[in-house]
Amino acid sequence: MAQETSLDVGPVVLLGPPGAGKGSQAKRIMEHYCIPQVSTGDILRRHIAEGTDAGLVAKAVMARGELVSDVLVCEMVRQRLKQPDCKRGYVLDGFPRTAAQAGWLDALLDDKLFDNSRPTRAWPIVIRLDVDYNQLLLRITGRRSCPTCGRIYNVHFQPPRADEVCDVEGCKLVIRNDDRLEVLQPRLSAYEEQTRPVAGYYQRTGRLMSVDGDLPMDEVTRRIFRIIEDHQA
Ligand code: AMP
Repeated sequence: MAQETSLDVGPVVLLGPPGAGKGSQAKRIMEHYCIPQVSTGDILRRHIAEGTDAGLVAKAVMARGELVSDVLVCEMVRQRLKQPDCKRGYVLDGFPRTAAQAGWLDALLDDKLFDNSRPTRAWPIVIRLDVDYNQLLLRITGRRSCPTCGRIYNVHFQPPRADEVCDVEGCKLVIRNDDRLEVLQPRLSAYEEQTRPVAGYYQRTGRLMSVDGDLPMDEVTRRIFRIIEDHQA
């Protein structure tokens, strides 16, 4: 029987299509509540950069805009959540992305899969960011990042001072491999077919909260914080 132990914050799960603002909002949650952001996309990109076996498998899949296998991603998440910095709570960004991953996460949180000295039984706070389709396209196709410091810009909404150049580092900005136009359609299809059902999974058990992701970024953040605080109360 799992021991009831509440985390200080969360876990928080952010759902939404690519470009919905999950990464930006996860960073704000991380800073405000002092809990780590666990982004499966970032973990996978790190494996690719380090040339691990998992990274080699993931690279080809991600380049096609498809989802990496549940087994691979769940194992990475399990390893990450075992780290001591996750004991107070964490915000999951980009996970779960399939109904199977959502079921796996519930089992993990129910302590069936996770042997940690401090059991973490807690239902996640699930927040979906809803964004208009045309906005999504502009957000993704306009996204640029600095290869040196990782700062994110958007040529439509948040351009750098000089065209395609990082304000801080002065180097040329790059387009993320899977933000390229030809990869976008498969990514959006993967969202529709595999990730949208995840919201249904949480909705059926009354655990889905939605926030209008088209609102100004600070307002989206304010609403997310309110949901988290209501949940903690
Ligand atoms: P993201 O940075 O969250 O947009 O993820 C980039 C890519 O990494 C996705 O298009 C997928 O190929 C892969 N990926 C990230 N998270 C997951 C996940 N939870 N399950 C399967 N694939 C994932």
